[in-house]
Amino acid sequence: MPMEIVSAKLGRTHHDARHDYGGHLAHWCPACKELHEIAVDRPFRNGARWTWDGNGAAPSFSPSMNIRVGPYPQSSKKAGHVDVCHYFVRAGRIEYLGDCTHVMAGQTVDMPDLPESVHEQVRVSQRYHAVRDGA
Ligand SMILES: [Zn+2]
Repeated sequence: MPMEIVSAKLGRTHHDARHDYGGHLAHWCPACKELHEIAVDRPFRNGARWTWDGNGAAPSFSPSMNIRVGPYPQSSKKAGHVDVCHYFVRAGRIEYLGDCTHVMAGQTVDMPDLPESVHEQVRVSQRYHAVRDGA
């Protein structure tokens, strides 16, 4: 997804006003190995919104994040399964709660820096926008 870098650990997805999509902070989840968005500046479609302490190096968010994906359709390998990633972010530490379905359940880890793959995506999207804007 198109985004900008906010700090070593945080990005911000571009707000797509037409589709009411993005405009949220994002961090890398080492358990799910993907970006998780956190709605700070503007709420998610369901109205959910979090507070951020403004610290880019060791961020805190409140309340907890509770991400659920599924249940997967019967045709899928994970039929009926629900993936849960439930955690607090406090002072740059991700505290995974015990109900997570991934291997880091119950562990507390440092929030990793955004991986090189994300920086590469940002560079590609900036080139795309530069071309599109005729710069
Ligand atoms: Zn996760």
